[in-house]
Amino acid sequence: MIQLPCPWCGPRNVAEFRYSGEVTPRPDPATATPEQWRDYLYIRRNPSGWVDETWYHGTGCRRFIRVSRHTVSNEARPAVRTGTTAPVDVTSTDSGAPDAGGAR
Ligand SMILES: [Zn+2]
Repeated sequence: MIQLPCPWCGPRNVAEFRYSGEVTPRPDPATATPEQWRDYLYIRRNPSGWVDETWYHGTGCRRFIRVSRHTVSNEARPAVRTGTTAPVDVTSTDSGAPDAGGAR
């Protein structure tokens, strides 16, 4: 069984998530060529090793998370809340609510 570390819900079965793709840097809209946009939208590296990916926790917190996953062993490193760069300690007592006052 593959488990992904959701920063809000903790480790969960991968069946609760939907794969959203590799994390790739978005080109600058003001200067990008059509070839750069094509590569950004359609070309994937598909390496054998560690890849940063975006996953959607559809049956859990309904949030997008970033996970580093090894494509051969399916080992996953601690997740990062989208919009941040630091890994999240899922064992902390912090509720981790990213938007204070927002509806859940
Ligand atoms: Zn979650």
